[in-house]
Amino acid sequence: MLIMHTFMAYLVGVNELWEITEGGPSENTAGFIAMVVFTGLFYGVFSKMSEQVCTTICPYGRLQGVLLDKQSVVVAYDYQRGEERAKFRKDEDRQAVGKGDCIDCKQCVFVCPTGIDIRNGTQLECVNCTACIDACDSIMDRIGKPRGLVRYASEENIAENKPFRFTTRMRAYSGVLSMLLGVLITLLLIRSDFETTILRTPGILYQEREDGMITNLYQVKMVNKTNDPMDVRFELLEPQGEIEMVGGEIDLVEQGIGEGAFFVIVDPDLMEKMSTMISIGVYSGDNLVETIDTKFLGPSN
Ligand code: SF4
Ligand code: SF4
Repeated sequence: MLIMHTFMAYLVGVNELWEITEGGPSENTAGFIAMVVFTGLFYGVFSKMSEQVCTTICPYGRLQGVLLDKQSVVVAYDYQRGEERAKFRKDEDRQAVGKGDCIDCKQCVFVCPTGIDIRNGTQLECVNCTACIDACDSIMDRIGKPRGLVRYASEENIAENKPFRFTTRMRAYSGVLSMLLGVLITLLLIRSDFETTILRTPGILYQEREDGMITNLYQVKMVNKTNDPMDVRFELLEPQGEIEMVGGEIDLVEQGIGEGAFFVIVDPDLMEKMSTMISIGVYSGDNLVETIDTKFLGPSN
């Protein structure tokens, strides 16, 4: 139910979901039925079909095979130490009789959500959940052997008994990951609360009013990314002139989009060319939240 509600919040927004929830099932019958059906579906997947979903639907395992090499650290069984596997016998010196540390209890297989035997090597179905590591460690504790028969290790670590090495590939992946994290953090830090797009209405050049002033018609689209409704107004910052809204102010609700149109009115004496760059300030209250530069057309002086 929690997953389903989170998914619905992603689709309809948190506030809308809250209202639907408060309204109760009778006010949103279709939504309620969909919620029950998908909750049942999720429950079925997690409780009864996790193995099938892991092996046949989820693409993670298939991607994993492409990215691995002998130095890749994965959940691995230490066959050098574990083989020859043989059942546990009390007070037996296993090393002396050629037996390894694996007592073939199959606990690592029983706990595996995808039903694989990690002792057969890394397999496509492994989702690195580490349940087999925990199961084997608890068995090792009980028979008085060191932990780590199943552990995070690379094929090279186990086969050649080499210690962990920070390889060139790991360095490269870490570098790419750090770069992506840097880009993500930068994007989050410079993310603005608003986004305004102002475009001259296509197909119209300019209009000349009776008082000699020149006007251009602009279309404006605003995105409010905050959780509060906003009062917005526009001012012409450069050159001197006026802005006249068409059809009233823009109503910008929380997390919403507002659209509108306005005329920019400029004295032609202030224009030297047919096309002049103008600056429009977007204000919320007394705060200038954005400055948009765009073109203004007029007669050539
Ligand atoms: S980590 Fe172990 S228990 Fe988990 S999927 Fe892989 S083999 Fe199975
Ligand atoms: S849990 Fe450990 S000891 Fe038991 S079968 Fe698996 S690897 Fe061997």
